[in-house]
Amino acid sequence: MISRADIIAKAEEIGFEDIGFTGIEPFTSQLEFLRNPDARYGWTEKIGLTLEKNTDPLIVLEDGKSLIVLLHSYLQSAIPVSLMGNFGRCYLNDDRVTRDGLALRVKEFRIFLKENGINSKLSPAMPDKLAAARAGVGTFGKNCLLYASRGALKSSFIFPIVIVVDAEFEADTPSVKTDCPHWCRNACIAACPTRALLGNGKIDSQRCISYLTYHGKELTPLELREPMGMYIYGCDRCQNVCPRNTPRLSLHMPDDEKLADMSEKFSPEKLLAMDKAYFETFIWPRMFYMSYKTIWKWKMNAARAMGNSLDRKYIPHLIRAVKEEDDERVRAMAAWSLGKLGGDDACSALREVFTEEKSDMVKEEITGALEKLTV
Ligand code: SF4
Ligand code: SF4
Repeated sequence: MISRADIIAKAEEIGFEDIGFTGIEPFTSQLEFLRNPDARYGWTEKIGLTLEKNTDPLIVLEDGKSLIVLLHSYLQSAIPVSLMGNFGRCYLNDDRVTRDGLALRVKEFRIFLKENGINSKLSPAMPDKLAAARAGVGTFGKNCLLYASRGALKSSFIFPIVIVVDAEFEADTPSVKTDCPHWCRNACIAACPTRALLGNGKIDSQRCISYLTYHGKELTPLELREPMGMYIYGCDRCQNVCPRNTPRLSLHMPDDEKLADMSEKFSPEKLLAMDKAYFETFIWPRMFYMSYKTIWKWKMNAARAMGNSLDRKYIPHLIRAVKEEDDERVRAMAAWSLGKLGGDDACSALREVFTEEKSDMVKEEITGALEKLTV
């Protein structure tokens, strides 16, 4: 049978940042954490994520004997400024639908294992960060993210890929600990705009902008709209301010044609105006947490980002939206953003729409916006 050294060499050859090995034991601490009502993770089961079940790797592969954890760095190229302000970096290279990037490399790795007599299985619902720390390839930050122990310049711009295999390998020394420098004054906690980070490695996930952008249920509450800023899908603030990420963020990176194309396709004005065909062709394959049924969230988030941008170039797009969009939550947010941007054109459009508008929700937002504009 192939050795650990052979497997490590193959992972390096394919371009993974790091690789570690750990045992097949269940993640009991994670199970206890998920079951603690204070952790507020009940919502995950409701949306079909079987996190509790997947704390036992033997559920994934009945005759599993070890876990192999590969580290992939998703920050490989320069991200256009327009995308960086609106999207979390990790979503820009997520190929779980397109299967044209990381998926091909994971496939190559698993074929290598198979050719050498090792059966393997993946489960995206396994506690991947904890598995990575148990396999010694990462430590935690107080922002609840995983930081690479060796590769990716020890940054947090990484995905761990956990593979259950039916062969036993010597486990690496675990690194399950928070490893922030003593001199960092909790920059991530101070920078979190929605106060989702609670300190000591805890997060109120339902206050995190990432959650709010794609799992938020209704019109974004007024008190969260400004803190959510220009983020449309995801958020990177707690990573941007972290000194552990400075070496990686200081690195010169090559331009990327795919990201340049996304920058144009994912502009706030295109998202606000998109129809089903546009959404399904250009948006969903890259960012798929929201289906067409909830396209209103995309539009509402784009409208909020326009208002928070303070850029008056968005006024015609918002006026069209407040007049024409079908969903009242999108029209309501467009009204709020027009109130932020202000000016005679915004004011007269809001007054004009108010007389025809049937939705109480939209009328209330228009009233609030006009009050702001006339004080
Ligand atoms: S991703 Fe944004 S909202 Fe979420 S914890 Fe980090 S800074 Fe806070
Ligand atoms: S900002 Fe400071 S406290 Fe937060 S994860 Fe980075 S080093 Fe740790």
